[in-house]
Amino acid sequence: MDKNLTAVAESAGIVGAGGAGFPTHVKLAGSADTVIINGAECEPLLRVDQQLMARDAKKLLEALSLVVEQVGASRGVVALKEKYHEAVDAIKRELAAYPKLEIFLMGSFYPAGDEQVLVCEVTGRIVPEGGIPINVGVVVMNVETALNLYAAYTDGAPVTDKYVTIGGAVARPTTVYVPLGITVAEAIALAGGATVADYTVINGGPMMGAVVSPESRVTKTTKGLLVIPSDSPLIHSLKKDLRRMLKDAGIACMQCSMCSEVCPRGLLNHRIQPHKLMRLAGYSSTCDESVTPLNAWLCCGCRLCEYACVMQLQPWKLNGNLKGVMGKNGIKNTLNNKPDKPAPFREYKRYPVHKLIRQLGLADYDVPAPMSARQPDFKKVALPLKQNVGAPSSPVVKVGDVVKKGDLIAKIPDKALGANLHASIAGRVTDIGESSITIEA
Ligand code: SF4
Ligand code: SF4
Repeated sequence: MDKNLTAVAESAGIVGAGGAGFPTHVKLAGSADTVIINGAECEPLLRVDQQLMARDAKKLLEALSLVVEQVGASRGVVALKEKYHEAVDAIKRELAAYPKLEIFLMGSFYPAGDEQVLVCEVTGRIVPEGGIPINVGVVVMNVETALNLYAAYTDGAPVTDKYVTIGGAVARPTTVYVPLGITVAEAIALAGGATVADYTVINGGPMMGAVVSPESRVTKTTKGLLVIPSDSPLIHSLKKDLRRMLKDAGIACMQCSMCSEVCPRGLLNHRIQPHKLMRLAGYSSTCDESVTPLNAWLCCGCRLCEYACVMQLQPWKLNGNLKGVMGKNGIKNTLNNKPDKPAPFREYKRYPVHKLIRQLGLADYDVPAPMSARQPDFKKVALPLKQNVGAPSSPVVKVGDVVKKGDLIAKIPDKALGANLHASIAGRVTDIGESSITIEA
């Protein structure tokens, strides 16, 4: 390797493009024996990574080789679902030239792309409670992140654009490559606009994505924008009031434990059993002294528990609330067991994605979203200063400055975890607010 990959990633402002936003240069600074490219794309309706793997298989393997070398690994794995036939074929065609690299095929279950689930699937290792993959010698990197790294390494290209699937109730579901900082409404227009009058937009996938306003901005972590009719079961679920849900839990939770049977973190033998937290909340019962609100820290928020529950209760919402309350009160996670094997019968409890799509009421929207070749020129962008885990970026431009696409406009604050930010269109800086920089062409 003739360049320092960590410095390349830092300079180019690369962060986890799958939704996490963790600065890649920090991830690359550690050492690991295994690198996994996360090509699971397990959220229903998202179509970015599977198409990128089919189109850019060679670049992806080059990127993986670079990361393997950087962290001193002996094994590099592209992990993806067996059903992504074009991507599987493209990767297999190129693999012979890369003796250290391999492909790992998974079934279509949710959440196959959860980092900790992925690590267990590929290596058999269990990330400790409250831990991250590097704790067991593994670096996990999203497909688009790896391709951004390759572009930065070979061409010095910083992150200025983002691949986003525009799906759901839109005229032409599609996957676009758009400048950072355009509005969600502009992105949806590229798919022909919404086909229903009353809709809610989800940023990310339907399981772990968040409701966003049409005026919010596309960032380095936007993977999908889904237009969902507001009267759909998914939107009812997301908007259901926590207090109402807890009242229902007191009345209706029958402690069947189906939620715990499917919980992907519980199945890694982490001490999270959502039915016991529901018992705590619904009945104020502490009959199992090993369960306290602290156990909620081990919930990854995948929301699967709701879809296993015949009463449509929402343990995930309770857990999210508990984490918020504990966080505000300075109560940190203290659970850090290191299970050496997963729970018994884990392999029989993987939750099928097609079943989930039906339960979410999204079967009509489970269609291809092919890549669009060309996008219009956007005249104005507002780039949020915080598009990453850690501190917001600090502006290095002032109002009136003329910038080219790719110029540095904000940098990592001194001694902080963060990411550089670059102009996504050419133009003049017209506003620098507390939270964003506006550029007009
Ligand atoms: S699946 Fe539903 S009813 Fe059963 S224990 Fe969990 S929350 Fe209660
Ligand atoms: S959201 Fe539910 S299923 Fe997912 S990790 Fe949390 S408790 Fe388990």
